[in-house]
Amino acid sequence: MSAWRTISLWMDMSEFVEEKTQDLSGAALLVLNAHANSLDVPFPHWIGGADADQGPSYCRSCAEAEVAAGRAEYVDGGWQQENDGCCHCETCGRLLDYTLTEYGASEEIDHYMGTELAGPISPEDAFHIAKMLEQDEKNPQALSIGIQAAELIKAQQSAIEAAGLKVKP
Ligand SMILES: [Zn+2]
Repeated sequence: MSAWRTISLWMDMSEFVEEKTQDLSGAALLVLNAHANSLDVPFPHWIGGADADQGPSYCRSCAEAEVAAGRAEYVDGGWQQENDGCCHCETCGRLLDYTLTEYGASEEIDHYMGTELAGPISPEDAFHIAKMLEQDEKNPQALSIGIQAAELIKAQQSAIEAAGLKVKP
């Protein structure tokens, strides 16, 4: 590192802190998303037509079932949408992909700040926490929840590895 680079880092501590925050949230998101990777989360679909209720989200097969049952004329969507909360299929309850609005993220932060985050963190928990952190990676509360969850996941994984080592002859 050149002397000038060192000086400029020291001269702009706020930039330095910002870089550090991005590193931390990036590291937490890596762990959270890897843990959620076992989930198969499809994009939401909606139904359309004259009398169709366009509000609810469905997985593709449940949306097609609505059309087949005559409650809608066509299937719409198949892409990610901003939500005020997490997204599940109206019929079968399956988790669907989403991004959070600022309001949605603050609701999730309130939820996680109000409960003691304890392991084990399921892949679905990791998915929701990652969505919350992705909405605003600079939010200190979201960051602290994300890091805490990532640390719990890493502890779970090393416990599993340790158990695996014991089983081996
Ligand atoms: Zn469904």
